[in-house]
Amino acid sequence: MSEKLIQSAIRASENAYVPYSHYRVGAALLTADGVIYTGCNVENASYPATICAERTALVKAVSEGVKEFDMLVVATPTGGSPCGVCRQALYEFAPDLHIIMVDFTGKIYHEAKLRDLLPLGFGGSHLDEAKGK
Ligand SMILES: [Zn+2]
Repeated sequence: MSEKLIQSAIRASENAYVPYSHYRVGAALLTADGVIYTGCNVENASYPATICAERTALVKAVSEGVKEFDMLVVATPTGGSPCGVCRQALYEFAPDLHIIMVDFTGKIYHEAKLRDLLPLGFGGSHLDEAKGK
C-alpha cells in the first residue's frame, strides 16, 4: 500500500499551484477504510491564504465525512517533512498517523509517527482533562 501511496503523492504534486515558491508538494492520505485522498499545495497572492498539500488532502477527506486515517505520504523535491500547522491539523484526527516523507523519485527520507513529530500536540486528552472528562 505504501508504494501506491507514494506514487499517488508524487502524482498529486503535479497539480500544485506554486507561482511564488515554485516548491511543489503532493500528499496522499490513507483512510482506515483503505481509501486514498490526495492533495497539493495551493498558494495565494495573499500568502497566509496558502494551504499545504497535507491539509488539502485532510480537508478533502473530512469534508466527505471521513475522520480516521492510517498513513500519510508527503512528496517534495527534497523529501521534506510536514510543517507545524499541518502536524497539528492532522493530530486532531490521527495522533498515531504513520508518515512517510519522499522525494519525487520515491526515495524515502524519513518515516515517523505523527506523535513523534509533534510531541505533546494540542488536543485530544489535553482537552478532555480541561473539560473534566
Ligand atoms: Zn503544512
